[in-house]
Amino acid sequence: EIADALRAQALDLDYVPSYQVAHPKAFELANRLLEILPQGGQKEGQNSAFTNVFFANSGSEAVESALKIAMAYHYSKGEGRRTRLIGRARGFHGSGFAGTSVGGVAANRKQFGNMLPEVDHLPHTLNIAEAAFSKGQPVWGAHLADELENIIQLHGAHTIAAVIIEPMSGAGGVIPPPQGYLKKLRDICTRHGVLLIFDEVITAFGRAGAATASEKLGIQPDLICLAKGLTNGTVPMGAVAISAEVYKTLMTGPENAIEFFHGYTYSGHPVASAAGLAVLDIAKNEGLFDRAAELAPYFEEAVHSLKGVPNVIDIRNFGLAAGVELEPRGGVPGARGFDVFRGCFEHGILSRVTGDILALAPAMIAEKTHIDQLVETLGRVIRITD
Ligand code: PLP
Repeated sequence: EIADALRAQALDLDYVPSYQVAHPKAFELANRLLEILPQGGQKEGQNSAFTNVFFANSGSEAVESALKIAMAYHYSKGEGRRTRLIGRARGFHGSGFAGTSVGGVAANRKQFGNMLPEVDHLPHTLNIAEAAFSKGQPVWGAHLADELENIIQLHGAHTIAAVIIEPMSGAGGVIPPPQGYLKKLRDICTRHGVLLIFDEVITAFGRAGAATASEKLGIQPDLICLAKGLTNGTVPMGAVAISAEVYKTLMTGPENAIEFFHGYTYSGHPVASAAGLAVLDIAKNEGLFDRAAELAPYFEEAVHSLKGVPNVIDIRNFGLAAGVELEPRGGVPGARGFDVFRGCFEHGILSRVTGDILALAPAMIAEKTHIDQLVETLGRVIRITD
């Protein structure tokens, strides 16, 4: 369907007015994206609604762009010392140097030296002893957000530009946010003038059981990073959604001025924009975000039925994503996980493996029978894998 949409729009793609280095499709997509992003509102004189979109070509570029937008925003406000970035342990924010620096998966960092200076990390929220087999958001763990207050005290709020986290850690092992945790982070950021960036490269476009995890959880970040589902992976594209407050603070110069010295040759590429528009049309026509929300409780029950299968030490789920964590075999991390991943693949199930955690992410168009097949196969393979 996306290919058909691209073909149908092919003639349009020739049209690039000579006075602008953009394309109507990019503006159309930006406006359509804003319709599905959380509206926010007026708070302490600041408008937190998303009003603008910066396009990039991948999730990694979206992250680099968001972090630079955060720094440029503070610079424009006359707070140029706010350059420190806070990520989180087990976070994944792509492969750029800034994204790797704020990321918290040790294996992704160890080959690359010091990376960005002035980066700190919140603790992750995974605690199997306290919260194993929680359905959805664990009850335990909101207090871990208080660590942000300690980090801010340590460095001084005047040095901190932004906190970046995935609302649900994906590559770090499918870690849903504890109940109340993100609200606490939001409040602490607001209190100290620190921007909150949600990296929704995984969680947006239905995965969370809504258009975005921000909407699902009722939290309004200042910037949202998007990619993956943005074009359903058909054409490379990333984007950063920007709140009115950040945009209007940054874009204050005369019409001919460049306020933000950052960009990519292929930002807002017409083919990617057309693919993004096709995705939004399909999602709307087929009610895919609602469909994901309806399927999520069935998926939750199905994956949690694996509790009690030998070597399964935790099951976590959020929207249409789940993680099944296995006891490492003989003290060798990852060996059992990889064998289960391969066994599933040989039986027609594609999962993703991170160490001994199997990550499951059914398509938005999945039927209940697909969920049954997925969970039944995974259970069978775990049982026959030593
Ligand atoms: N951010 C998150 C949360 C991701 O999961 C990923 C990729 O998996 C990225 C950023 C990077 O996206 P890309 O691979 O498109 O650069």
